[in-house]
Amino acid sequence: MLEIIVVVTSVLVALALAIVVANKMEAIRRRDTEITSLKKSLDEMDEQAKLIVRTDMELNKTQEALDKKVGGLYALQKIAKTMSTTLEENQIFKVLNAEHLKELGFEKACLFLWNAAERKFVPCLSIGYFADEITQIESDLTSKNQKYLDLIQNNRATSSFSLSDHFLTKSELLQTYKVNSFIIAPIVPKEGNKGFLVAGTENVDTAITEGDEELITIFANQISQSLENARLFEKTWRAQQGLEQKVEERTRELRMALEEVKLVSRRKTDFISAVSHELRTPLTSIKGYASILLTGKLGDLPEEIHARLEKINRHSDELAHLVNDLLDIARIESGKMVMKKEEQDLNKIVDQVGDLLSVQFKDRKINFIVDIASDAHIISADYSQINRVFINIIGNALKFTPPNGKITVSSRKKDGQVQIDISDTGCGIPEEARQAIFDEFYRVDNTINQELKGTGLGLSLVKHIVEAHGGKIWVTSKIGEGSTFSFSLP
Ligand code: ADP
Repeated sequence: MLEIIVVVTSVLVALALAIVVANKMEAIRRRDTEITSLKKSLDEMDEQAKLIVRTDMELNKTQEALDKKVGGLYALQKIAKTMSTTLEENQIFKVLNAEHLKELGFEKACLFLWNAAERKFVPCLSIGYFADEITQIESDLTSKNQKYLDLIQNNRATSSFSLSDHFLTKSELLQTYKVNSFIIAPIVPKEGNKGFLVAGTENVDTAITEGDEELITIFANQISQSLENARLFEKTWRAQQGLEQKVEERTRELRMALEEVKLVSRRKTDFISAVSHELRTPLTSIKGYASILLTGKLGDLPEEIHARLEKINRHSDELAHLVNDLLDIARIESGKMVMKKEEQDLNKIVDQVGDLLSVQFKDRKINFIVDIASDAHIISADYSQINRVFINIIGNALKFTPPNGKITVSSRKKDGQVQIDISDTGCGIPEEARQAIFDEFYRVDNTINQELKGTGLGLSLVKHIVEAHGGKIWVTSKIGEGSTFSFSLP
């Protein structure tokens, strides 16, 4: 029995132990699983942390590149502003300095332009180099001219990390320009010499990036644009200088020609004046003798002689009239005749002229209309001279207007002056003669002029008188309908 109990107890104990062990094993397995999943989580977290760090680093890098780009663009804008202060080619490079370059992120720069006459590249800008270094580069370029010309022809920037095969080797360039990284950008203005710009840095920390290539290309374009502007400005300036010189020459020539014309005109006036004076004395005698003979005081005259003497008398009057007109024109031209300006009433002047010509108006059945505006009837003029103006113009209107026509005298205020218009319904004046009728001795070649006598001096005298008053005279006309002579007086 005891044995049975012992066996049973042992079995039970063993069973219990087995259960405990099994439980423990289960617990260990569960812990293992937990540890594995914990490890997996930790690994994942580690990956994420690494990713975050990587992203952060990339972000920082992008931010840095962005800052650099913004800084570069800001510097470029400053440079463009500086360069725009000058339009002289040799000044463009003088305004750029090391500070500008530093702001762009470079320590060294040099610029060479191709001199076609000398067939070599000439240095125009150097920042961060000693003079002897530039001389060294210049002589180094001589053997490589064609390669640089090809680069310019290609019109694309190249840098220490994007060097194209056909161009010079990287180590060669690093050595030539004494830098650790560089960019070479062509300068290609539409006008003027082409060239290239090298910008580089010696510092490894500030090595050139891809963004820099873009920046230097913009910089090179800005320089090209400035060179182009300078060339255009120079061209325009030279053209203007040439033009100014030509204008000066022409003005001088014209002034001389004008002096000559004035001299000739003065001589003509003096001549006319002298001849007219000389004519007046014998004319007065002729007229005097003819008048005495006509009175019959020296004895009766046969009918025929009487008629001839009357003709002499009439022609002498006409000649005297012509001589007087000529003398007056000459006197006005030479400034010897002064206009005695006084306030005159246009109504009075026109009425008097109307009275003087009333018989002709009546004979030819011409309607004479006067329309003087109430605010334009007072003029400042020399009474007898302005009277001659009206007599001449209205007299002409009468001559060239057929019977039953109309002659109108009107006045109005225009631009602070009094404008007088004398219109008729006469034959009109051909367009090509409208200017010439104011010249001395000019008469239109028409049937009326062939029948009626005239000197062609009337309108010339009228023009001289109006202009001596500070006024202007002109004519508008329509063939077969009539003419309007207008003159303005201040
Ligand atoms: P004249 O009357 O002695 O010929 P003027 O100098 O007064 O000289 O006039 C010059 C010319 O202008 C005249 O011969 C005439 O042909 C033309 N002319 C002037 N006034 C008129 C007018 N009202 N109508 C048409 N022709 C005119």
